[in-house]
Amino acid sequence: MKILVINCGSSSLKYQLLDMTNEGVMAKGLVERIGIEGSKLTQKVEGRDKYIVEKPLANHQEAIQLVIDALIDEKNGVIKSMDEIAAVGHRVVHGGEKYAESVIIDDSVMKALNECVKLAPLHNPPNITGIEACRALMPNVPMVAVFDTAFHQTMPKESYIYALPYELYEKYGVRRYGFHGTSHKYVSQEAAKMIGKDIKDLKLVVCHLGNGASITAVKNGKSFDTSMGFTPLEGLVMGTRSGDLDPAVVTYLMKQLNISADEMDNILNKKSGILGISGVSSDFRDVEDEMNAGHERCKLALDIFHYRVRKYIGSYVAAMDGIDALIFTAGLGENSPETREEVCNGLGALGIKIEKSKNNFKGRREDISAVDSKVKVFVIPTDEELMIARDTLNLVK
Ligand code: AMP
Repeated sequence: MKILVINCGSSSLKYQLLDMTNEGVMAKGLVERIGIEGSKLTQKVEGRDKYIVEKPLANHQEAIQLVIDALIDEKNGVIKSMDEIAAVGHRVVHGGEKYAESVIIDDSVMKALNECVKLAPLHNPPNITGIEACRALMPNVPMVAVFDTAFHQTMPKESYIYALPYELYEKYGVRRYGFHGTSHKYVSQEAAKMIGKDIKDLKLVVCHLGNGASITAVKNGKSFDTSMGFTPLEGLVMGTRSGDLDPAVVTYLMKQLNISADEMDNILNKKSGILGISGVSSDFRDVEDEMNAGHERCKLALDIFHYRVRKYIGSYVAAMDGIDALIFTAGLGENSPETREEVCNGLGALGIKIEKSKNNFKGRREDISAVDSKVKVFVIPTDEELMIARDTLNLVK
């Protein structure tokens, strides 16, 4: 069975076609600049040159039509006709409290997704546009929505309720939702396989450290707590996001700078984090390079980043009353030995120790624990597309 996975942003669209008989990726690609001048599709198939199509794309429907055309292209495609696509799995950022699992999309789901727009005004609309475009082009193909928030719906109330007037939760849905759920779910399932135990018997801490970063405490296979909250702004220091902050800072700065809520939002989401502290870049590679060249504020930015990750790990070990494995994933977690080392340095009291000689690599699955580490430490490349395809297969087969 072949499953198409779609991750739709406001002006871009990532896709993968997977053959679920062996979970192999047949083709993957990116459509950029949808609705903007210079639209382009780039498709990669292992062992072949990149296939690039440059043509004007007015909207997402035209973009998805181009994806289908690329997949069935006689020379550059991987399937003969669209009929080979058995189902489509869509990444959807916010499922609110309604969706703790992936779901087959019908009109009532579309209505619920639209109701979630107020919770994720930047992310859900392009996801919905992508689904609508696919439904229009492939009316008879089942579609599944896989939510970033769903995995975290198992969090207990003490993890997700803010200490605000309770009616603000009841009336406006102001609570912690958590994000990156598809990644945390995939990585924790794979960690259980590496340990060789049932996930229901394990306490795991998953560090998804990319440009957006979050940590999840996974207890007995379920998300028990996670660092992102009502929005992806809470928690760790990120590329451009502040993470945790005294909320009084927000009102103080709005008054001092005489700025609007949107301008404040922009500072917190786009100008803070590693970029804000270092003043150099939001890309950790640039900041690491500058630090090595003696840039003080780059060192400070990375010190703060690592310190916050360590604090979260410590608090989740306390929250779960133990830890069997610590897992690193995403851009930094998979590719930066320095980050893994800095985070684990100082966690010895928790029984977490890595073997330096096993840590010097990028981008593959590995056990990096020291022989005398009580806690396993793994690097597991995330694969949200595969998780979306697995969920889609399970629902449609
Ligand atoms: P992601 O959001 O998961 O795609 O991660 C992207 C981020 O990972 C980039 O902004 C980089 O800062 C970081 N990254 C990727 N490769 C490396 C590396 N080799 N060393 C340090 N940081 C890296």
